[in-house]
Amino acid sequence: MNTDIANNNLIDLGLMQEAGTAPNEKGGTRQVHLYSYTYDGHLLARLIESFDPSRRGKAYQNAYQILQSILNMEPRASHEIFYSVLYKKFNEVGLFGEFVIDRLRESLESYPKINTMKELQYSSPVIFRTNSAEKGKLYLDLWDEAFIEMTPEIRELLLFNMKIDIEQRMMTRAMAPRNYEKYRMENIQIRDRLSMEGYCKNCNLGYPCQVYTREYLKRTNYLPNAPILDDCLKCTKRSLLIPTL
Ligand SMILES: [Zn+2]
Repeated sequence: MNTDIANNNLIDLGLMQEAGTAPNEKGGTRQVHLYSYTYDGHLLARLIESFDPSRRGKAYQNAYQILQSILNMEPRASHEIFYSVLYKKFNEVGLFGEFVIDRLRESLESYPKINTMKELQYSSPVIFRTNSAEKGKLYLDLWDEAFIEMTPEIRELLLFNMKIDIEQRMMTRAMAPRNYEKYRMENIQIRDRLSMEGYCKNCNLGYPCQVYTREYLKRTNYLPNAPILDDCLKCTKRSLLIPTL
């Protein structure tokens, strides 16, 4: 009974699934439930293994196989098709563990209230941040390579998903959210650019503006803590600060 309760908790978390029932126990009055770990359950187990430096290398490789199995389940959304290709490229240069699993593990350490593996995956930053310029460049180059290999429809969907995600974060940070939310909606159809809120120190004025998603991504990879500078519409100086979120 206690095992069933524990297993039900794991099922609620998406870490285990019921795999069927076995015939009645000999002399028993109920069927025995059979359980197996889901892909998420296996992935979490590999993440936990990777806390131990001596088991990390093996855990990375197992996690890679599990993630590829998850990402290749049909029907696939645009981000699943894209990340399957991107992770393959990371793996080929020996950086899958550092670029993907280390980030998932850091999220696990920094967000104690995460309840499911989906939440964990969404909690890890969309954009890779590193203090190593060389690694940041490599990440971005591989990201570009994978992006170019996608069909035009997948590329458009990917950019749109990123736009929604980044603009939602901008919304929570906007100094003038009433202006920003209207501007964001008016420009929702512009798929390759982001609606952001810029601030000019010279004019002490904040207003919404457009930034190319690709440029934003490049900047957040190289200089994650420095805001992007653009020309101010009022004073025309290069003093409009656009935050990297
Ligand atoms: Zn200005």
